Parts: sequence; C-alpha cells; structure tokens
Amino acid sequence: MRIHPAAVAVAFVCSCSKGSSTGSFDGTLTKLAIEVDYATNAQPASAADGTVYDLVRANIGRLYQGTNVTVDIPSAVSSLEELKDVTGQDFTGDQLQAIAAKHRSQTSSSTTLAFYVVYVDGYYNDGTQTRKDVLGVSIGNTGVIGMFAPVIKEVGAGGRLPTQTQRFASETTLIHEISHAIGLVNNGVELTSAHQDSANGKHCTSTECIMYYTNESTNSLRDFVIRVVRDGNTVLFDSACLADIDNAHAKK
Ligand SMILES: [Zn+2]
Ligand SMILES: [Zn+2]
Repeated sequence: MRIHPAAVAVAFVCSCSKGSSTGSFDGTLTKLAIEVDYATNAQPASAADGTVYDLVRANIGRLYQGTNVTVDIPSAVSSLEELKDVTGQDFTGDQLQAIAAKHRSQTSSSTTLAFYVVYVDGYYNDGTQTRKDVLGVSIGNTGVIGMFAPVIKEVGAGGRLPTQTQRFASETTLIHEISHAIGLVNNGVELTSAHQDSANGKHCTSTECIMYYTNESTNSLRDFVIRVVRDGNTVLFDSACLADIDNAHAKK
C-alpha cells in the first residue's frame, strides 16, 4: 500500500493523518517519544542557550496532564543527530520514509507512541510539484514527520525576532501534527462540544487554537506565532480542545 503524505503547509494547511488514536487514552501508554534528526544546514532553531522544544513539551505535556505518560523529546540542539548523507532539493514522502528507515531508532509499541522528525534542507515534493509553501508533512500513521528548513526560515525572516519566530514556527507545526495523531479534532478523540471545523477536516473552529486550519500563506502562521506565543511555555489549545482531551482521559 502506498502511503500518501499529508501536507502540513504553512499556517497548518493540511490534510493530516487520519490515524486512529487507539491506545493513546486507554491507560496502556506510558511514553510519548519524539526523536529528531536534521540534515546538514537544516538544524532547527533554538533559544539563545541552545534549548529547544519547550513549547512542544509544554503543550503535549498538557494533553497528558494527570496521567502517567511521560513526554520524551530532546531539550538541546546539541543532542540531536546531524545526518550528513541527506541531500537534495526536494523530498517526496517515499524519500522521507527512506531516511526514517535508515536513521530511525525508536518505533511505537503497546506502551510507547513514537514519532520520528527529520529536518531537511529542501522542499516537499508532493509527487507532481515542489511545494515552497509546505512547512512539514506527516506520513500516514507511520509517525514520520518531515520538516522543511527553507520554509521555516522564510517564516522566521518575516518576524521581528527571526530566530525565535523560526523556532516557534517549527514547534507549533510539530504540536499541530502530533495532536492530529493523538486524536484531535474528532480524529479519534470524541468531541465534547461543537467546535470541529468540518469543512476543513479534523480542525478546530477557534482562530486562537493551534488546531485551527487556515488556507492562507506563510503570513498566517507568522501572525499566529507572534500573536499567540508569548513565551516558551504557552498552552496553545483552546478550552474546547482541552475539554475533549480531558474527557477522553476521564473515560478510560
Ligand atoms: Zn491539521
Ligand atoms: Zn481547539
């Protein structure tokens, strides 16, 4: 079976993975692990002291608040693996999967939900064209997420604080995509109120929520990042999405 990548364009334009969230909320999960590699010249932006993924940790941690699930994601750029054998101008989903097949060290099990994130120094190739508007892609329910460094840098370049904007653009994209895989919005986790933007798939109707879908350009994501992210520990879900998650935990 060919797995079609779901493009997560800038501003979260995506036809994201419809993978089942079974297991995420049944009490058997003890760890959510996110492994990150980067190709030469595609190193993710960090804070001045080299820390990364505080925002991912805070947000995915919030989704498992009150449970015994730990979120395992690197906290320093210096601990990420540089891939010197990944080159190319653009990458198809199959090519990203081939990188994962070679370099991924952790896969999901009955107790661990694992993601493999790879930053490449090139663009997404959707099979017919090179997509200069796509920040990241999630490949089916393989847990493989490709991140496109030139697009992330472009989003950052329009911000007043380019490095910080890049970092948050990258981290918000990861949070959005992982949250789809976990089950938002109505993607395995049941709704507790009418907040699904059904016209746009598994997204939230609130413009203030990280699960909001917008079909605009890089400017939309930049605006979201600048407007919503005030520090590295902001919870970016609205109350409706959090209520869905908390209800799923309560029912297990
Ligand atoms: Zn989405
Ligand atoms: Zn929401």
